[in-house]
Order: sequence, then C-alpha cells, then structure tokens
Amino acid sequence: MKKVIGFVGVGTMGKPMAFNLIKAGHQLVVYDINPKPLEELKQGGATVAKSGAEAASGAEIVITMLPKSEHVEAAILGGQGVIEGVKPGTVVIDMSTIDPSVSKRIAGILDSKGVKMLDAPVTGGETGAQAGTLTIIVGGNEDVYKQCLDIFNAMGKNVFYCGPNGNGEIVKLINNLFGGIHAMSTAEALALGVKAGVDFKVLYDVICAGTGATNFMKMYCAIKAFKGDFEPGFMAELMHKDLGLAVTLAKEKEVPLLIGALTYQMFTRLMAEGLGKKDFSITIKTFEDLLDIKMKL
Ligand code: NAD
Repeated sequence: MKKVIGFVGVGTMGKPMAFNLIKAGHQLVVYDINPKPLEELKQGGATVAKSGAEAASGAEIVITMLPKSEHVEAAILGGQGVIEGVKPGTVVIDMSTIDPSVSKRIAGILDSKGVKMLDAPVTGGETGAQAGTLTIIVGGNEDVYKQCLDIFNAMGKNVFYCGPNGNGEIVKLINNLFGGIHAMSTAEALALGVKAGVDFKVLYDVICAGTGATNFMKMYCAIKAFKGDFEPGFMAELMHKDLGLAVTLAKEKEVPLLIGALTYQMFTRLMAEGLGKKDFSITIKTFEDLLDIKMKL
C-alpha cells in the first residue's frame, strides 16, 4: 500500500532515503532547515513543506533523520515541529542515532497524543542509503513495526526488531561502540607490527586469516584507509557522538565502560586536532604519522 510520508531532515542520509521511498511509489512531503536538498527532492517528485508540522499534517508516516538528540527534540517537539501537525494514528519513525532515553521520552509524549513512535537507527552509511541496502535497527511496539515493514524494505536490506522503544538506539550504540574500539585497536596493533619490522601486506594477510581480524580491518579499511583514502564514509565526529552516547548509557546503567570510555577520549582528541570531518578510520593515519610508517595495501 502506497503511503503519504512526511520526511524531516534530508541531509547526507535522509535525502537518498527519501528518494528510495519515492522510487517505491510513496508520496513524500519533505522538510529541512536547509533549502538545497529540498529543491532536488522537489525535482524528483516530492512536495516541499514549510515546517515539520506541515510535513506531518497529511502524513500516515513521519520519518525524521537528524544529526543529534537536540535536533530530534526540536524537530518533533519544538515550535512548528512534527507534534503540531501530526494526527492521532500516524506513526513517527525516528531514524537518527540519538540518546535512547531521549528517544523513549519523545515516544512517551507522542503516545499521549495517540501517535506511536519507532526508533529505527541505521548502519550502512551514505552508500547504503543510496543503494537502499541499509541495516535498520528498530525499537517500539512490534505490531507497529510490522505495519511499517514495507517502508523499511524500501530503504534497507536487513531489518531487525529489537524490542521496546529505545532498544533500536541501544543496539545501534553497541554496534558503533565496537566500531570505535576496533578503529583504535586495529590502528595500534598493526602499527606495532610494522614499526617492529614486518611488511604491512604480510601482517594484513596473516591477521585476516587468523583470530585477530575485524570487519573494520578486512572489509572497511581494505577498500579505503589502506589505500590512503580518509574521506568519509562515516565521519569521526559522528563516531565521537555515538561513543559519547554509549558512555552516557553506561553511566545511566552503572556499567563500567573502561575501553569504551578510553576510546571516546581518543576520539575527543581527534576532534581537537581538527580531524572530525575525516572518516573515522583516520585512526590509521594518526599512527602512520606518529611512528613515520605506512599501512598501505
Ligand atoms: P546530516 O547533517 O548530513 O543531515 C541532517 C539534516 O538535518 C541536515 O540536512 C540538516 O539541515 C537537517 N536538520 C537539522 N536540524 C533540523 C531541524 N530542526 N528541522 C529540520 N531539519 C533539520 O546528517 P546525516 O549524516 O544524514 O546523519 C543523520 C543521522 O544518521 C545522524 O544521527 C547520524 O549519526 C546517523 N547516521 C549517519 C551515517 C552517515 O554515514 N552519515 C551513517 C549511519 C547513521
């Protein structure tokens, strides 16, 4: 069944996701504070709204894809936000990566207005968003999730239901906690091997065949960082944000997060060095520069 979908936040990820929904035959009403992507989407057949409230007013589904918790709060709960236009029975799907407790709080406020919310953060980056192959990680009511499967399938390849509101965000943060830790540990361990005199290609081949390999090393760095390409991809500043959210979650749950907190601090250092806009695999280059070595395939 084709649907009217309000889409708020059409940046790096949101724009290609919105285009894939148009391709699947849905009717899109889009809003962003930046007019540039709105113009492109208009050319592609979307209707442009003047506010989040307007984008939500005639919609059966409202999707938000925004940078941080505060942007999602502003776009949904703020003046002229989604909450001012949305009708009871509409489903709001927030696909941003944000603080799980903020997500749960927004879901509670929307629920009191008869509006159900799902948190559905993604992995797969801009290329996955363009190709419609994102992994989508969903929290919220299971029946509502099932109703939205056709929408998710238009944007992603692997769709997972993770439990009640906030659980999608939690699973996404754990995934990126692994990603951040692997980015640091892979750079450090490989750099030691090269500095100690082993040819990088030999080291790479043996580790990939052994127990030390990570997807970060085998699948991610092999096609980018180990070719000297540190352009995003997934920016270090987004990884820094997600690691910060994982640290906050650990504090709330009183879980010791020793390696995760250290990794967060190491990414804070990368930010202070002005490397936030580089791909998060910039960890490889920082060790290359520090030790005057090369880690290239
Ligand atoms: P982005 O900054 O490229 O896009 C966000 C868009 O939101 C921008 O166009 C901005 O103008 C708009 N915006 C901000 N505040 C707004 C408001 N109040 N109302 C309307 N529009 C508003 O960010 P992105 O890279 O698309 O990331 C979006 C989310 O997806 C983030 O939470 C990020 O962590 C997550 N994510 C990103 C990637 C990636 O590779 N970029 C991968 C996976 C997940």
